[in-house]
Amino acid sequence: MATPSNNDKNRAAIERIRAGRLKVETPDQLAQLLLEGDRTALARAITLVESAHESDIPKAELLLRLLLPHSGKSMRIGISGVPGAGKSTFIEAFGAHLIQAGKKIAVLAVDPSSESGKGSILGDKTRMNKLAAHPNAFIRPSPSSGALGGVARKTREAIFLCEAAGFDTILIETVGVGQSETAVHSMVDVFLLIALAGAGDELQGIKRGIMEMADVVVVNKADGENLPRAKAARQDIQRALHFFPELHSAWIPEALIASSTEKSGLPEVAEALFRYEQHVKRNGYFEAHRKEQSRWWLKETIQHALVDLFFQQENIQHALHVREEEVLNQQQSVSEAARYLIQLFRSK
Ligand code: GDP
Repeated sequence: MATPSNNDKNRAAIERIRAGRLKVETPDQLAQLLLEGDRTALARAITLVESAHESDIPKAELLLRLLLPHSGKSMRIGISGVPGAGKSTFIEAFGAHLIQAGKKIAVLAVDPSSESGKGSILGDKTRMNKLAAHPNAFIRPSPSSGALGGVARKTREAIFLCEAAGFDTILIETVGVGQSETAVHSMVDVFLLIALAGAGDELQGIKRGIMEMADVVVVNKADGENLPRAKAARQDIQRALHFFPELHSAWIPEALIASSTEKSGLPEVAEALFRYEQHVKRNGYFEAHRKEQSRWWLKETIQHALVDLFFQQENIQHALHVREEEVLNQQQSVSEAARYLIQLFRSK
């Protein structure tokens, strides 16, 4: 009798996993199930990638290596707005609209507030229940450990996993209150800002920085008594957008109105995103931007890892303390102390 090949053995194992008789053991098995669109495998894969356990790192790296060639075929949409702007209500309604149009959507989040231990801004509510129950939707809360860079890096890797599992539209939600927009901007193809009529500029995050990132601004809650105000706000925002410097994509940002509760204006938002996609795919920006993002993440990740290495090195910890005192006592400049410490780090 011929001995079964590795492939046959693997296939048999996959069958037993599917029948619930075997636990997923290897990254290969996880990858295979994930590529078939198995949602449990996708959830497990994301957990593996998010894990900070030393022993999980090589497994996560292998898993990503297996799946990266199958990733990339989606539209990655960043969604930002201050708490209360209606992001989750919008995503629930807009997600349903996209699914009706035949899309498979995954919703991820970058919420650095979840690291503070004070509870997260995005994650505490029971969110998007209807969407979560739909077979063509996959919803995952923000990874909760580590600093913003780490949270964002894990979310970026989760994007690849969702794409490999067949999701063609990835929505990445973030809170409109700080640095997280920049991190999300660095992993999406298009950036959508949910704004409110009548809120002060500061309040709704229409600070230059965030507004300048937006490719599409949606004035939400354009319903009932609020409708005229929303229309006026849309015009104001559209005018303001024209004064911003031209985007690298050569796209002129659009402002729209919508109501997530009445589900109005959603097809128009989808059309604007589609127009954007056509525009950047035609002029080459889509590809160029993704490459630029990969370069940026590589550098960012190296910087992050180096800084960690530096501060963990034993001889640095002691020397840092000494040099810090000298700097505080004005016996040495910051640059001299830093140069000395870096030399010490390199000499080890
Ligand atoms: P998030 O914090 O940005 O995720 O905002 P939520 O989606 O939780 O919405 C905040 C509040 O605004 C909730 O009470 C929603 O019911 C309400 N809301 C969201 N979208 C709309 C809308 O389109 N119209 C109206 N009238 N209320 C909305």
